[in-house]
Amino acid sequence: MLKLEDSYLHKGQRRGLIRTLREKGIVDEAVLDAINQIPRHFFFDSALLSHAYEDKAFPIGEGQTISQPYTVAFQTSLLDIKPGEKVLEIGTGSGYQAGILYCMGANVHTVEYNKVLYERTRRFLPKIGVRVQHYWGDGSLGLPEKAPFDKIIVTAGAPLVPKTLLAQLTIGGMLVIPVGNRKTQQMLRLTRKTDKQIIRENFDNFSFVPLLGDEGWE
Ligand code: SAH
Repeated sequence: MLKLEDSYLHKGQRRGLIRTLREKGIVDEAVLDAINQIPRHFFFDSALLSHAYEDKAFPIGEGQTISQPYTVAFQTSLLDIKPGEKVLEIGTGSGYQAGILYCMGANVHTVEYNKVLYERTRRFLPKIGVRVQHYWGDGSLGLPEKAPFDKIIVTAGAPLVPKTLLAQLTIGGMLVIPVGNRKTQQMLRLTRKTDKQIIRENFDNFSFVPLLGDEGWE
């Protein structure tokens, strides 16, 4: 299949993307290395293939998008992934972010609400050697049956921080989630210090597709 070919041209474009991400302030070498290893063009429709290494979000069907590389890099840097950590991703989408986490050695569980995307990505990721656990359902409630998690990443914009997600963190665990209105959200990192104490840090604004479901927008 021509689409799954990773040519010198693509590798060169990926190095260019890494330079752009460095210029924009991404310094985490483990994150940059994962972005350098995962061919983002594998996740693209053939019609959009030439755009795969632009630092932009693109449609993946079903009204959803693959996040901008800068956003993926920023969120993943905040998560501070260590090999072997158990990570929950809410919003599988194309599977690109899940691929980055897998590449960094995480044990990834990813939940997708849209059945078509869930099926497509669940079949696709093993073809490129990315092995993660896929779930179909409302991830705004987390994944109680697999909790607790060392890290939780939400890749859709939430109206508030779902309490259920905080309850599914280990002590020392972190939740990275964009919270705001439907158009703009502020990136938050919540660290569970003890059973009762949660530390909250605020970062830049981003624009994600809405988180749906019980703790989401509808
Ligand atoms: N991480 C993805 C980008 C995701 S776009 C990537 O790397 O490509 C956000 C995704 O969240 C969409 O696919 C959307 O269907 C999904 N989503 C929205 N609400 C959700 C919910 N409550 N649970 C799980 N997935 C949800």
